[in-house]
Amino acid sequence: MLGMPWADFHTHTRYSHGTGTIEDNVREAARKGLYAVGITDHGPSMLGIGIDLRRWERIEKEIRVVQSKYPQVKVLLGVEANLISEDGDLDIPNEIIGRLDLLLVGFHLMVRPASWRDGLRLIAGNLAYESLPRKTQERVRQINTRALIAAVNRYDVDIVTHPGLHLDIDTVKLARACVARNTALEINASHRVPDVGFVRAAAREGAFFVLSSDAHSPNRIGDFRKALQVAEEAGVDRGRVVNLDYGWHTMCRRA
Ligand SMILES: [Zn+2]
Ligand SMILES: [Zn+2]
Repeated sequence: MLGMPWADFHTHTRYSHGTGTIEDNVREAARKGLYAVGITDHGPSMLGIGIDLRRWERIEKEIRVVQSKYPQVKVLLGVEANLISEDGDLDIPNEIIGRLDLLLVGFHLMVRPASWRDGLRLIAGNLAYESLPRKTQERVRQINTRALIAAVNRYDVDIVTHPGLHLDIDTVKLARACVARNTALEINASHRVPDVGFVRAAAREGAFFVLSSDAHSPNRIGDFRKALQVAEEAGVDRGRVVNLDYGWHTMCRRA
């Protein structure tokens, strides 16, 4: 048994499509005895639900107010940024990235890409994946992997969320890039992604992991069950899980 994580780095609020407020999430984190909670709503390119960046200062202010009410929980302000180009562009401006406690990157398909070409290569190929010939599928997999690695190399990404959700990724290449950049791979309890095979392959490359609830409602904060199952089944060492082993990782220093 791996034990219970001390932080939930990936949760959503009403600023994207969560059902609770920042305070609801933090209150629940306190109730569950978590030491830290990440407020990480979707970047603005997520269709229909992304953060409105004009509200950013309001979000920062709200975090400060909530933090003062719940000193027992470290409230980390982050985003789940979207990959929007083959070159690894994210949908969050650098000046905001510089002010974050946590930068999560998710490869989602329901996003506005940086250009029509990126839409074609990054999104359309994945949406049509099942109907594509094997050779084209392999090309889509390579583009996915290259784009995500480009983001990891260009930005100080703390966590790649749900790697491989609804898309094919070269696990070994992604894991190697993440190890080199001190970026953790998420094991996501909401989606139960990645699967055991992916986690084993990434672990062999020396990857670090984070277990997250990806809660979209306050009651799910700190619900790591499905992520723990995957990690345990894959035989992941406790010392490789950032939010189990309070170690040297940059996220631990911030929290
Ligand atoms: Zn996501
Ligand atoms: Zn999420």
